[in-house]
Amino acid sequence: MRRLAIVLGDQLNADAAFFDDLDPASDALWMAEVPEEATHVWSHKARIALFLAAMRHFRDAREAAGWTVHCRALGAHEAPGLADALAADIARLRPEELLVVLPGDHRVLSALQGVAADRGLPLRVLGDRHFIDSPEGFREYAQGRKQIRLEYYYRLLRRRTGYLMAGKDPEGGQWNFDADNRKAFGRQGPGLLPPPVGFPPDAVTQSVIEAVEAHFPDHPGELDAFDWPVTPEQARAALRDFIDHRLPLYGRYQDAMWTDEPWLYHARISAALNLKLLDPRDALQAAEQAWREGHAPLEAVEGFIRQILGWREYVRGLYWYAMPEYAERNALDAEAALPDWYWTGDVPMTCLRQAIGQTLRYGYAHHIQRLMVTGLYALLLGVRPQAVHEWYLAVYVDAVEWVELPNTLGMAQFGDGGLMASKPYCATGRYIQRMSNYCGECRFDPGQRTGEQACPFTTLYWDFLLRHRERLAGNRRMGLQLRNLDRLSAEEAGAIRERADRIKAGDGTPPAGA
Ligand code: SF4
Repeated sequence: MRRLAIVLGDQLNADAAFFDDLDPASDALWMAEVPEEATHVWSHKARIALFLAAMRHFRDAREAAGWTVHCRALGAHEAPGLADALAADIARLRPEELLVVLPGDHRVLSALQGVAADRGLPLRVLGDRHFIDSPEGFREYAQGRKQIRLEYYYRLLRRRTGYLMAGKDPEGGQWNFDADNRKAFGRQGPGLLPPPVGFPPDAVTQSVIEAVEAHFPDHPGELDAFDWPVTPEQARAALRDFIDHRLPLYGRYQDAMWTDEPWLYHARISAALNLKLLDPRDALQAAEQAWREGHAPLEAVEGFIRQILGWREYVRGLYWYAMPEYAERNALDAEAALPDWYWTGDVPMTCLRQAIGQTLRYGYAHHIQRLMVTGLYALLLGVRPQAVHEWYLAVYVDAVEWVELPNTLGMAQFGDGGLMASKPYCATGRYIQRMSNYCGECRFDPGQRTGEQACPFTTLYWDFLLRHRERLAGNRRMGLQLRNLDRLSAEEAGAIRERADRIKAGDGTPPAGA
């Protein structure tokens, strides 16, 4: 064999760059299902099942197209990790060169480079053409900037690609329509929601589900509701369903939350995108076309395009720009452990119980549940950002490190000290009250900061500001919040600290009488 192309679980792109060079007559593909990818963080069963099911469908499709695929099935070999499996197969298959598309995880890239160096084999790392920009393109943009904010990078990509552009100007005369978006449902609730299309397991996926139950019985999460897209055809059907039925109200309600409604107006395509089953250009074009045909308003379409063309490209660029030291950052010196109930959802606060409960059931929560419920609480408690990162990487079906780490460590935990976010995303329970109906079903009161009924978010928010007052004093965007802090009497500040200490000293929830 001349060349062996390594196909990783998040690189299931039939148009990957190495296919340009490879010849099915003399070259081969290589895939491996290894336990370490499910255990280096304690992965949700649905996340493991999604990756393995998509990998097996990809293998079958490539074999049907005439490729030789050397694939190590879970349980059929002894190698614990990718590096061990690859080293064993290099010895067996004796390729002259290895190829791989840039992995989505720095750890995996280092492991593959280590194996290639050990074996004296060249490893060609190819660009990932799934993305619209490259790590080099982002570096060029970021170089010399004090702050690397999304907004100007997003505009650059809009201009470069032409999405939602009218010549040199943005369609509608604005780059950003947030003022028209991000509404709550109000008392009447979300009404009759269009149920998203699901993809019940076929025989291949069913065999994966059984393997996951057999090999990882103690891992978090459930599998009986598994219906994620696992092929490119299913991914495109999920996109079409979103464009037809939920995009028109996506912008308005993208930040809203509601009890027992995990999907609302969200697209459910993030996992398919991140495994490369779906090309982001297809999503961008379909959304723009929906606006041009009058099916969806500009504010919804721009909000969706900003998530994919802006935010997704931005976090990937930032990951490769700042790694590997980025993963160790802890700008707020947060050292607390993650409470155990993040793995069970057994917690008295309704918002957290809802967000964690649906996460364990489906491997999914939408961005505001992640940022402003589970993420916010960990920030306010002072949990070590690396522990929060490991939880997010483990429990979400769409989590690959390039996208998950900046969102968690940078955006939600302010662990990078402001490289991404201009200020910590800290808020009281009032924010959750405004954006959901959770508080109406909770025994705590978001308007109170002390006393037995006080919402733990609210107590911990004020405690967070008291703890970090000096550190945040130079941040102009924190000015209003710090001026409000200065209005607290010494007595009130003492009572807040005392209650916060009792929450933090226990399991992260208010003990009886606090
Ligand atoms: Fe969450 Fe506080 Fe609202 Fe309860 S009162 S649901 S803890 S924000």
